[in-house]
Amino acid sequence: MKIIRGIAVSGGIGMGTAFLFTSNPPELKKVKIPESNVETEKERLSKVIASTRKELTDLQVKISKFLGNEFGDFLEVQIQTLSDPALLSICHRNIGDSYSAEYSFSKAISEIAKPLLDSKVGLFKERLADIEDVTNRVLRNLLSLPSVSIIDVPKDSIVLAHTIPPSEIVLLDSRKVNGLATEIGGRTSHIAIIAKALEIPAVLGVEHLLDNMKNDEPVVVDAQRGQVILAPTSRRIQMYSQEIKAYKERRKSLITKKPPQTVITRDEHKIDVSANIELTSEIYALERYGANGVGLFRTEYLFLTKRRFPTEEEQYRIYSEAAMQLKPHPLIIRTLDIGGDKVFPGYEEANPFLGWRAVRFLFDNEEIFLDQLRAIVRASAHGSVKIMFPMISSLSEIRFARRLLDSAKEQLRDRGQRFDPEMEVGIMVEIPSAALLADRLTEHVDFFSIGTNDLTQYTLAVDRGNEKISALFSHYHPAVLQLIRRVIGAGHKAHIWVGVCGEMAAEPLGIPLLVGMGVDELSMTPCAVPFACKIIRGVRVDELRKIVSKVMEYSTATDVVRYLRRKLSRTYPDLAKLFLERKNVCYL
Ligand code: PEP
Ligand code: MG
Repeated sequence: MKIIRGIAVSGGIGMGTAFLFTSNPPELKKVKIPESNVETEKERLSKVIASTRKELTDLQVKISKFLGNEFGDFLEVQIQTLSDPALLSICHRNIGDSYSAEYSFSKAISEIAKPLLDSKVGLFKERLADIEDVTNRVLRNLLSLPSVSIIDVPKDSIVLAHTIPPSEIVLLDSRKVNGLATEIGGRTSHIAIIAKALEIPAVLGVEHLLDNMKNDEPVVVDAQRGQVILAPTSRRIQMYSQEIKAYKERRKSLITKKPPQTVITRDEHKIDVSANIELTSEIYALERYGANGVGLFRTEYLFLTKRRFPTEEEQYRIYSEAAMQLKPHPLIIRTLDIGGDKVFPGYEEANPFLGWRAVRFLFDNEEIFLDQLRAIVRASAHGSVKIMFPMISSLSEIRFARRLLDSAKEQLRDRGQRFDPEMEVGIMVEIPSAALLADRLTEHVDFFSIGTNDLTQYTLAVDRGNEKISALFSHYHPAVLQLIRRVIGAGHKAHIWVGVCGEMAAEPLGIPLLVGMGVDELSMTPCAVPFACKIIRGVRVDELRKIVSKVMEYSTATDVVRYLRRKLSRTYPDLAKLFLERKNVCYL
């Protein structure tokens, strides 16, 4: 048995037999052709480009129909590349120089992709994967090579690959694929987005995954712990079989199909429980798990599927459809949080989490920001839309963001377009400087949503994605708790509502702690909602307040967690199982 670690990008555990997916680029030689063949060669290439474009367009229509437009968007760059008239004319010029269609095409692609490689902004790393993908598809068609496709996987497979190109990942069939692992790719790659949306357990960035790996060997993908287990022992298989069974049962039991109910504590304090989403296709999950609207719509994923900055019109369509679907429940749209570990302009930084991220990037790219602001403001005419600015570190940033929001509204008034003039404007409090100055920020916003993932990372100087130091990353560190309490207190003093949308809002110990601190809203991954509702309905705020007072006396995260586990499980024996669970997450 061999265990290799990687990045867990979705939940769950999958067990099955290995299906090695390889999509090696076709071998390419610099072949010269006789002059007399030039015209037929040009014709051959034009035909193959046209038929490949049709192949991709058909695929896009099919995928958009079954999985939603956001998935169809994955193929947009590839279709556009093949529709570019410049591509064909460069290819013809190369063939005119007596090169074969194959060589001429790949030379032309390199020329077309060069500005993409050189540009700073507007280059999304993923676009290069698209270019490579479409090039290989055309070359395979030119050479009449059989295509290897993920569509051919047998049932109960675990797909193992170095990487999976975009046009293949969209073909993944969750009824046949039990799990997925790749050597490259991270949390925001196209592979992660699809795996999450299709709820396929996936572990990415697994180094040397394919070394000595053979088809049909037994494999486990443990996306709870971020591990791939090759040739598991029979004891391990038995352990995982039980875990998978329990996981499936729990998952099934979570589905409520009831419309969102008011969630109140035993002493009648109302808490809004809403969901974090990354794609609008996840809205179905809200209904399934009973969430009260969207507390955080992370729009950067929309930009990632498009691999470019979407236009105002494209964004307006998406935001307004989501607002209509959710009405009367709220939709909190967060402006683009590009940078950090997320979608990334083609630009390397030594310290991306402290760098050109979110509003810092948008303030330097006003046109991109204004497109998004106008789209969000216009969507407010169709439902209960609120706007939220991430990564705010100072009052000047709020002022600047609001100034741009006012210009966006002014432009819409000039155009005679409708919007809700009362739309709420909030900020994420996720940087310690904002938390410390929260009382000075309240008069400029309608709400605070505390981003505990970043607040913990920046308060403790612990990279939230670095496995090596993950033991240091704790929302229960007294310094983090003091900041959270301060923000809630400042918000309430100024009569604005305060929510939490980081992972802590989905943790069994975090929920009572935050409720005891007085939080008004908790927003979390949709499948955590039933657990959170169960906890909230089982507790009393007056009791939790006393527990919070005691917690604030402790000086280490370990002491806080130990006390919370013991005290909460004794105070609420019905919920003890959740509070005592080893892995401190509420969802599966
Ligand atoms: C957070 O930082 O807690 C948060 C919710 O935002 P994100 O995880 O998208 O950075
Ligand atoms: Mg954040």
